[in-house]
Amino acid sequence: MSTSSETLAGNPGTFSFENTNRLSSTAEGLGRDGARYGRTGIIHTPHGDIRTPAFIPVATQAAMKAVLPEQMRDLGAQALLSNAFHLFERPGEEVLDEAGGLGKFMGWDGPTFTDSGGFQVLSLGAGFKKTLAMDVTGMKSDDVIAEGKERLAFVDEDGVTFKSPLNGNEHRFSAEISMGIQHKIGADIMFAFDELTTLMNTRGYQERSVERTFRWAKRCVAEHQRLTAERAGKPYQALYGVVQGANYEDLRRRAAGQIASLDFDGVGIGGAIEKRLLGQTCAWICDEMPESRPRHVLGIAAVDDIFAGVENGGDTFDCVSPARCGRNGAVFTRDGRWNIKRTQFRHDYTPIEADCSCYACQHYSRAYICHLLHAHEFNGFTLATIHNEHFFVRLLDEIRASIDGGYFDEYKRETLARFYANGSRG
Ligand SMILES: [Zn+2]
Repeated sequence: MSTSSETLAGNPGTFSFENTNRLSSTAEGLGRDGARYGRTGIIHTPHGDIRTPAFIPVATQAAMKAVLPEQMRDLGAQALLSNAFHLFERPGEEVLDEAGGLGKFMGWDGPTFTDSGGFQVLSLGAGFKKTLAMDVTGMKSDDVIAEGKERLAFVDEDGVTFKSPLNGNEHRFSAEISMGIQHKIGADIMFAFDELTTLMNTRGYQERSVERTFRWAKRCVAEHQRLTAERAGKPYQALYGVVQGANYEDLRRRAAGQIASLDFDGVGIGGAIEKRLLGQTCAWICDEMPESRPRHVLGIAAVDDIFAGVENGGDTFDCVSPARCGRNGAVFTRDGRWNIKRTQFRHDYTPIEADCSCYACQHYSRAYICHLLHAHEFNGFTLATIHNEHFFVRLLDEIRASIDGGYFDEYKRETLARFYANGSRG
């Protein structure tokens, strides 16, 4: 067990991370000398604390689809993450600035995050999404585009030029533009603008991309400091640098060292990562990072990936998948993920999960939610989303308790064995 508390330079009293407990090293630990970086702590932000590890639901366009902020609070969410690119496109960052920032605009008084827009902008270029389990055998190309997709984004040294998927207008994103947008949006935690690569890019491209992301990171820090001074009097916004480097150990370590050398408040673990390397990649990065900085793992929510991420140092996690799955009828339970729209649930008047304390399980049956989703009733989206978001929020709450209580390994073993007992995905 180790305890450290450090207020980061340049922003005293406004943003800090406090580490409370840490997993002990083991022979199987993936970090240097068997280190395991999993830990509990508290991120202090101007809009409140986040107890970590924590799941951060994604409110892409300053809204959880079909669920109100007070319902998110009730189900235990501590913070929400929105998307800078989507908010830039609509309603425009000036509106959020006028409204008093993202939280105030959407009626959420807790901490907020925005991602830089890099992922959305650059996935226009690739035409496919980040896929953890992507099979890349024999598929190396810097120009691969999903069939039938027009290439919409082009990267150069200064930034990215892209066509809006909303209206076809041409836009430009760069480190400075992303920082300007994110400062106006006003989230407590922001991410530096980075270049997202995919597992299909060549090694040479990944190397050039890591160096470019480092140059962009330096420009983000400089612009962030300038804007922080210019906007004095506004609540402090923390900036996380993002570590790329795909599956390559040397590139991940190099990128982590580069990000560690800059004045960032925290680190985002980004980019495409093969599922089997997720924990290892987090450990490589943690080896090279000061422990005083909180670490966010971008965009994962498979149950086994969450455990691998936490065990190897992830403090916060976000993903759209609980809400997206819920709207399609896929519900997460301790006994795996299954689809509530199946015929067998038409007459099942029990809750989704007997011991679940979420609003959906406390008040509604499988049969009712099955009916709502088949009838495309919005309340079906609401109830399935509430249950799924609660599942991940609770999972991280329980993991946190297991680290503090010294029984993480037993909790992990039992939870994974039960969740995957029936060959469940997710
Ligand atoms: Zn529930």
